[in-house]
Amino acid sequence: MDNRWDAVVVGARVAGATTALLLARAGLRVLCIDRARHGSDTLSTHALMRAGTLQLQRWGLLDAVLAAGTPAVRHTIFHYGRDDVPVSIRPAAGVDALYAPRRTILDAAIANAAVEAGATVRFGTTVTGLLRDPDGRVAGVATRTRNGAARAERAALVIGADGRGSLVAQAIGAPIEMSGQASSAFLYGYWTGLDVTGYEWFYQPGISAGAIPTNDGLTCVFVGTTEARAAVLVSGGGTGGAFRQLAGRTPIAARVAGAGRVGGLRYARGRPGYLRRSWGPGWALVGDAGYWKDPLSTHGITDALCDAELLARAVLSAPEPGPDQLDALAGYQSIRDELGRPMLRVTDRIASHDWDLIEVRRLLMELASAMTEKLERIGTVPAADEVVNIR
Ligand SMILES: Cc1cc2nc3c(=O)[nH]c(=O)nc-3n(C[C@H](O)[C@H](O)[C@H](O)COP(=O)(O)OP(=O)(O)OC[C@H]3O[C@@H](n4cnc5c(N)ncnc54)[C@H](O)[C@@H]3O)c2cc1C
Repeated sequence: MDNRWDAVVVGARVAGATTALLLARAGLRVLCIDRARHGSDTLSTHALMRAGTLQLQRWGLLDAVLAAGTPAVRHTIFHYGRDDVPVSIRPAAGVDALYAPRRTILDAAIANAAVEAGATVRFGTTVTGLLRDPDGRVAGVATRTRNGAARAERAALVIGADGRGSLVAQAIGAPIEMSGQASSAFLYGYWTGLDVTGYEWFYQPGISAGAIPTNDGLTCVFVGTTEARAAVLVSGGGTGGAFRQLAGRTPIAARVAGAGRVGGLRYARGRPGYLRRSWGPGWALVGDAGYWKDPLSTHGITDALCDAELLARAVLSAPEPGPDQLDALAGYQSIRDELGRPMLRVTDRIASHDWDLIEVRRLLMELASAMTEKLERIGTVPAADEVVNIR
């Protein structure tokens, strides 16, 4: 069976569901496909930064996050060794608190809003390859459902929002245009009864850690180090032993010792950051598929939400295939990269874990100013759904 869409989006989490939502709100016929289940979990420590919170508010999605009981974060404490630096989240850009919703809540809320906006969202369906026109232009996707049914979905534009292992990027051979060097590894889990009311970040030479209040009265606690060091610790003492070794070097150890862990520990290995070529005839990439940086930036979700807006605006400014659309897509990547390069560079330095406590403070200030720059640029970009409905 053959279908034709204005856009097919591969991936229905923060980048994909948001892009589908914004395009559908403007009247495009959008299909969004994910091989995962609706509302399923994924690797994440959940922390949203100001620009991400602003986006959810602009699109009317913050209510769903609040309705799920997600606690408001109104302060952050940076622990540099024994030195504690508290910072208040001051109201700015229309945002007076940050949030760290579980991905089961956030990703599902965005997908639900995309459906309400008129997008067709199919979970449990895998994209197995790209369709091409005789001239090589990307023209759609081939899909397979869990029960083996195959379909061809034809589209004017295929958007890869399919994460770090992006099939769309691989099928196109989209080159990496900037690459980092460092990658960290993380161990994280959820604790109940921890006295944590804001984001807390801990730094010791060679180690980073964080405590992030999330839903159901739980606090997500992570420890991170270089991938090589984590691998040695995990192979010697399992995830529990590695967590104890790393957390034991920071003040979070004493606090989790007096609290109860809910569920097991997760071990996530990273990969160096990259910016990838993210547009071409009939295709575009958004989210981790086109731009990845180490989770230590705690900015991947926020960037995905912001970049989905930039991409949606580009598509809506030139929805028909042709030179205008290619110009608009090139413009999207150009802003994304201009704002992404400084963040990727500084995140790469932090992820190396090759710093002392003085240098990491400086790096975190650089990261904060890269985030502010993004917030300011996004704040001046009218929301994609403010453009005239094109249908
Ligand atoms: C351990 C860890 C902790 C993190 N913590 C934070 C944090 O605290 N704050 C923060 O901002 N960011 C954090 N991040 C980063 C953040 O999770 C990502 O940047 C964000 O999830 C990117 O969203 P995305 O929609 O681009 O991709 P993803 O969330 O990876 O979603 C991609 C989707 O595409 C689907 N898909 C892939 N291939 C196919 C296919 N062939 N067919 C159909 N569907 C497909 C997948 O099923 C998936 O649902 C963390 C990342 C990790 C690994």
